[in-house]
Amino acid sequence: MVAAKRGGNSASYRPSAVAEAGWPDWIDPAARRRLQEAIRHDRIGHAYLLSGPKGVGKALAAQAFAQALCCTNEDREDRSAACGSCRACRNVQRGAHPDVETFSLETQAKLADKPGGGSTLTIDTIRRLRSSGATFPLESDRRILIVDDAETLLEPAQQALLKTLEEPPKSVTLLLLADEPEALLDTVRSRCQEVSLRPIPRTAVTQALLSRGVADALAEEVATLSRGRAGWALDAIADKKILNARREERESAVRWLKSSLYERLVTAYTFGDQFGNLKRRSEVVGVVQAAIELFREEMLAAAQDTVHDSEAGGRSVPALSFSRAIAASLQCLSDLDSNVRPRLALEAMVVAWPTLEPRDR
Ligand SMILES: [Zn+2]
Repeated sequence: MVAAKRGGNSASYRPSAVAEAGWPDWIDPAARRRLQEAIRHDRIGHAYLLSGPKGVGKALAAQAFAQALCCTNEDREDRSAACGSCRACRNVQRGAHPDVETFSLETQAKLADKPGGGSTLTIDTIRRLRSSGATFPLESDRRILIVDDAETLLEPAQQALLKTLEEPPKSVTLLLLADEPEALLDTVRSRCQEVSLRPIPRTAVTQALLSRGVADALAEEVATLSRGRAGWALDAIADKKILNARREERESAVRWLKSSLYERLVTAYTFGDQFGNLKRRSEVVGVVQAAIELFREEMLAAAQDTVHDSEAGGRSVPALSFSRAIAASLQCLSDLDSNVRPRLALEAMVVAWPTLEPRDR
């Protein structure tokens, strides 16, 4: 069962009014290549499912794709990449192109005049999409309809969407963006070309931030906290609250890892008991994810035998122990997602963690 999304994604990175040429350099290169190849070879499908973890840059990829298709600049060397400066490019950028329309929790809330309201895309929204798909493109060869937050579509809405997918209007390309593609019906999924976007290396996130004028230290920190998700990193730069929440998760994970086995178990039980509360639930998951990252960093440092200013203090622990800890923590996340009792899932995880010697600073 997929947890419903709350509050829309109003915090998602919305590019500035200045359009950028081509594709953002931080989009998963494999996904980017696939979409560009489709344009180059005139094999643009009727429906794509862009999947990947929240904040990985699906909306940015969808926008770059739409922009490349709508760009009217005849002097482009590569027509799979937008020029970024023509009127069409700028209009896609500001969400004002007549042939590119986005349907998301945010647009749905705006239409209903209910800020933050609604955690699922409704059947009415899909009806709007259907009628939008039935109109002819005005300026481009096709209409590009983007369904963000597609994982929140409940079954009746997905069935309605399926009708469009089964008989796609000729001039329409549908882009479904989903954090959790497994929330979609197999019948929906199988009618889309799935392009999954993976997180990118931390250094690539740092570069993306530096090239946007973010100061060195902040770029490094945000990249470390980004889990390889450039979309999240850009959100975090724009909104301090997002950044601070992630900082707290990491600090909480550091304290948890540094504590004794007894204290680790106490924390695990406390988190387990809080798991019933929806708000606390995502925080608990966030802290476990932060712990996984800390183990990954420790493992890398141990494998490279580098002098590493370790936050968790695990320099004397062999790399293998960290990979076991990571496996146990991933198992815990998977258990928390299914029906395992939270206390048990968290307990099994912490007993698999290696003991970390607190280092003198
Ligand atoms: Zn252009």
